[in-house]
Parts: sequence; structure tokens; C-alpha cells
Amino acid sequence: MGTTLLPGGAGKYVLGIDPACPRCQEPLTAPHMLLHCPNHKAQRDHLEAALHSHGLVFNLTNVLDPREQLGARSSLPSPNTY
Ligand SMILES: [Zn+2]
Repeated sequence: MGTTLLPGGAGKYVLGIDPACPRCQEPLTAPHMLLHCPNHKAQRDHLEAALHSHGLVFNLTNVLDPREQLGARSSLPSPNTY
């Protein structure tokens, strides 16, 4: 995963942006926010249950685009429709 506009990415290059998660003091990157940060645990639990209901494991690939794993048989809506 490349640089993002999250503080963990942009904060390396922009003065005044703290690259660390304010709760964990870990770099605030997409994997931290989506997979590990306790600040988002409630939302993550819902997402994990939804992925499991489609037979998918909870990992970064499936969080970002589960259609990659499901292929053409997917009935999941495109993330761009939200
Ligand atoms: Zn955190």
C-alpha cells in the first residue's frame, strides 16, 4: 500500500501533521486504522461478521475490495456505489 492522506502517510511529509494514532501512538496508516486500532473495533466487528457471512476471512485485501476474492460470482455492491 502506498502513501495515503492519512496522518501516517502525509505526516511524514507535511509539517504540523502528527503521523501517530492519538490513541495507540502507532503510525496512523490504513492497516492500523482498518485492522488494528481499538478506536474502530465496533465497526470492525460488524465488517468482520459481514465478510464471514460471505465466506471471507478478515484481512486487508478483503476489507478494501472483497470482490477480488469473490470474483464474478460476487453479489456485493461495488464500493463506488456508496
Ligand atoms: Zn490506533
